[in-house]
Amino acid sequence: MAQLIADRTDIDFVLYKQLEIEQLVKTKKYSEFNRKMFDMVISEARNFSIKEILPTFAEGDREGVRFENGQVKVPECFHRPFKLYIEGEWLSMTEDPELGGQGLPHIIALAATEYLVGANFSLTAYGTLGHGTGKIIDLFGTKKQKKIFVKNLFTGRWGGTMILTEPQAGSDVGAITTTAVKNHDGTYSISGNKIFITSGEHDLTENIIHPVLARIEGAPKGTKGISIFIVPKIWINDDGSLGEPNDVVCTGIEEKMGIHGSATCSMTLGGKGRCRGFLLGEENKGMRIMFHLMNKVRLEVGFQGFIHASSAYLYAVNYARERLQGKELEKYRDPDAPQVPIIRHPDVQRMLLWMKAYVDGMRSFIYYIASCFDKEVCAETDEHKEHYKDLTELLTPIVKAYCSERGFDVCDKAIQVYGGYGYTKEYPVEQLLRDCRIASIYEGTNGIQAMDLLARKLGMKKGAVFMNLLQEIGKIIAQAKETKGIEGLGDKMEEATNRLGEIAMYMGKTALSPDFKTAFAFAHPFLEVTGDCIMAWMLLWRAVIASPKLEKLLGKEDKEERNKIIQKNKNAAFYDGQIKTASYYINSILPITLGKMDAIKNTNDAVIEMDERSFGG
Ligand SMILES: Cc1cc2nc3c(=O)[nH]c(=O)nc-3n(C[C@H](O)[C@H](O)[C@H](O)COP(=O)(O)OP(=O)(O)OC[C@H]3O[C@@H](n4cnc5c(N)ncnc54)[C@H](O)[C@@H]3O)c2cc1C
Repeated sequence: MAQLIADRTDIDFVLYKQLEIEQLVKTKKYSEFNRKMFDMVISEARNFSIKEILPTFAEGDREGVRFENGQVKVPECFHRPFKLYIEGEWLSMTEDPELGGQGLPHIIALAATEYLVGANFSLTAYGTLGHGTGKIIDLFGTKKQKKIFVKNLFTGRWGGTMILTEPQAGSDVGAITTTAVKNHDGTYSISGNKIFITSGEHDLTENIIHPVLARIEGAPKGTKGISIFIVPKIWINDDGSLGEPNDVVCTGIEEKMGIHGSATCSMTLGGKGRCRGFLLGEENKGMRIMFHLMNKVRLEVGFQGFIHASSAYLYAVNYARERLQGKELEKYRDPDAPQVPIIRHPDVQRMLLWMKAYVDGMRSFIYYIASCFDKEVCAETDEHKEHYKDLTELLTPIVKAYCSERGFDVCDKAIQVYGGYGYTKEYPVEQLLRDCRIASIYEGTNGIQAMDLLARKLGMKKGAVFMNLLQEIGKIIAQAKETKGIEGLGDKMEEATNRLGEIAMYMGKTALSPDFKTAFAFAHPFLEVTGDCIMAWMLLWRAVIASPKLEKLLGKEDKEERNKIIQKNKNAAFYDGQIKTASYYINSILPITLGKMDAIKNTNDAVIEMDERSFGG
């Protein structure tokens, strides 16, 4: 049967061969697990997702969310799978079992989530934001707040959100005007208007807990004066029971290009002067706390880009195997030659390999970050902990921006593989493209991510963290140079990595010079080339593992004989695919990256020098 959503063989390869995650069960934290248990979790997630969630993908898009008498109704078909999703404890897999989790490593939870979220992002988003809300309360809340909220959020009994955006405060979060006034009982009265709030209102959970950014009267201007409040939709009494509605009103929902099943709400807080919230953490320290949630969601948004790409690729490759059109190139003039599946045409093969390179590269990249989380949790020394924590911080803007854009590009290419049918609603790839587009915009636009990389992450520990990343890449280059069957790839990767190091230094310097504006004009291209090199690193790493395994299976030098085995043996085909993908990317795409690096180094200042009037219009 054709694979749907995600390629299980590839997931297993990344987990067990590339990232060797079985090592985790040797640590104290995960000692009660074994591979069989990990495999079972992933298989269960796959079966559940395909059987229960995937059928809601197109239907949820068609039906969309409805706004009726101040209430938001999610697509009818969401109710049953959402209930099963919650009951199956899929929401907070990495959390403590006492709090409704399964205590699983991040990377296993990620593999399971690939299927769950990949089956219908719009549906699972109603749950994942609840987990995020619970997480910041768990980290920063008082004992009482934790007791009331965390388990209810981790188990999905209550939903969550993140409420930042206002009409005048999008990227510029510091411009928010929602206010908070302290009451005698220690709660705060909140009032303001918020927009674009994902899952701000819906009928899937009995309550919704909103983490809201607001400014306490008299607080400093900008982000330094922002506090964060826990604002329940329905007030919670001291004994934990539900009280009165809390004057949190959804005033409308957006008509969007995609994710039609996900409610994007305009919200009025305290329209009747009766909205109350609990301060989370300290006054004026709200941004620091919200950043915990934002960083988590930024990784998830990068993941969203990737997972749409993974599905789109599998649909495209399955379609290309079945769609008959045209003849073999060498029989083009023969009127009697039969039509062949389009996967036999070099241009279609090129598109598929291009897509596969990014899907494989992104999967390895995202799983690598999850493995850094696990290594951080299990690290025995502070130094190790810090190493992995720093790496994930550095990689967060890259995964968010790079994977959201490449994810979209892969969906776009999938439509091209389908031809005219891809542009119709008969096939799922047009929806994947529409759904994926938002990932470049929310959670800090990709422009903001690029600025974060240049202004904050590149200079972390005086550039040492970026250098650590280059060293990690260097380890694989060294192995590649010693690996038979992938000759030359390590050298090319080394050239690109050295160039990336130079460009990083150059960008860092320029950002601190009088030409800093020009540096910021090239922040996004810099993020892009960093992401390109990370893709090459991940694909080379895969090839380093695959090459000796392939040689063992083939055991012959003769090309024809080798090809015969590859055609018959599934594992040989898989490993050969790894080598060809790395070879294609490093030989045919990485040179473009070198060109992009030249373009950055030219530091052409036209962008900055252009007068506003010269843009025309
Ligand atoms: C479907 C959807 C769901 C959303 N969900 C939520 C949610 O749950 N909670 C929430 O709080 N918000 C949410 N948002 C809001 C989202 O995070 C914002 O749309 C996003 O941060 C951008 O803000 P903006 O739309 O006001 O665009 P703007 O900030 O006006 O940006 C417009 C353009 O200008 C660029 N730009 C702006 N400022 C700068 C700068 N200083 N330097 C360089 N470039 C800049 C941006 O990169 C962008 O290209 C959602 C939005 C959508 C569409």
